[in-house]
Amino acid sequence: MNIILLGPPGAGKGTQARILMDRDAMVQLSTGDMLRAAVAAGTEVGQKADAVMKAGGLVSDDIVIGVVDERLDQPDVVQGVIFDGFPRTTPQAEALDTLLAKKSMTLDAVVNIEVDDAAMVDRISGRYTCGNCGEGYHDRDKKPAVDGVCDKCGSTEFKRRKDDNAETVASRLKEYHAETAPLISYYQGTGKLRSVDGMAHIDDVTTSIKTALGAA
Ligand code: ADP
Ligand code: ADP
Ligand code: ZN
Repeated sequence: MNIILLGPPGAGKGTQARILMDRDAMVQLSTGDMLRAAVAAGTEVGQKADAVMKAGGLVSDDIVIGVVDERLDQPDVVQGVIFDGFPRTTPQAEALDTLLAKKSMTLDAVVNIEVDDAAMVDRISGRYTCGNCGEGYHDRDKKPAVDGVCDKCGSTEFKRRKDDNAETVASRLKEYHAETAPLISYYQGTGKLRSVDGMAHIDDVTTSIKTALGAA
């Protein structure tokens, strides 16, 4: 099964993708993670993306589509792909349709994680991840069981994203409403859209997604 997790920054796409990945052995395809890796590695893509990401803008469609095209050539995609943070614009959604057809893959469902704008700032400013395994945490809503120790891997190294600050949140939300929110009606038109309440507890969101996919 191939699915898209749609939603504004901080909606819980990455959190839910990791849970689904662990349970169902699906592959998480996060364009944000891939672009951050490219920036860290100093590749040509990374050099082009760096300043845009820091400012909370959207990296150009051509670059992002190219990254996804390459990733979909990896053999592990047969396990099923969870698209996290892609597509984010109408041209990206159209390109994804073409890419999937070219690779003989189908899109089974698009899960729209609905959250209030007001919660975004809080979600994003409280977000941090394990520096070793990437498990996501939140200062108030998802603390490790033992303070300062990752639940998943035991690491004591944590990190925060450079772009997770109050200044970029406004531009990221603006980009979301202008460029990404129109994808809700794009996918509504295909009959594949399912909406879940992203304001619920993390476990309850997972249950809603499971239910939505069961009906897909
Ligand atoms: P996205 O990938 O959509 O940007 P994340 O999955 O990184 O969002 O979640 C953003 C932050 O909110 C993280 O700190 C995460 O732990 C927290 N979070 C995710 N889902 C929920 C939820 N349902 N309730 C409260 N906090 C959540
Ligand atoms: P969030 O979890 O806050 O939604 P991501 O990790 O998905 O953030 O993305 C971080 C940044 O990477 C975005 O603000 C944007 O600059 C860039 N980015 C990620 N995915 C895309 C995409 N599909 N199109 C354009 N830019 C992207
Ligand atoms: Zn860890």
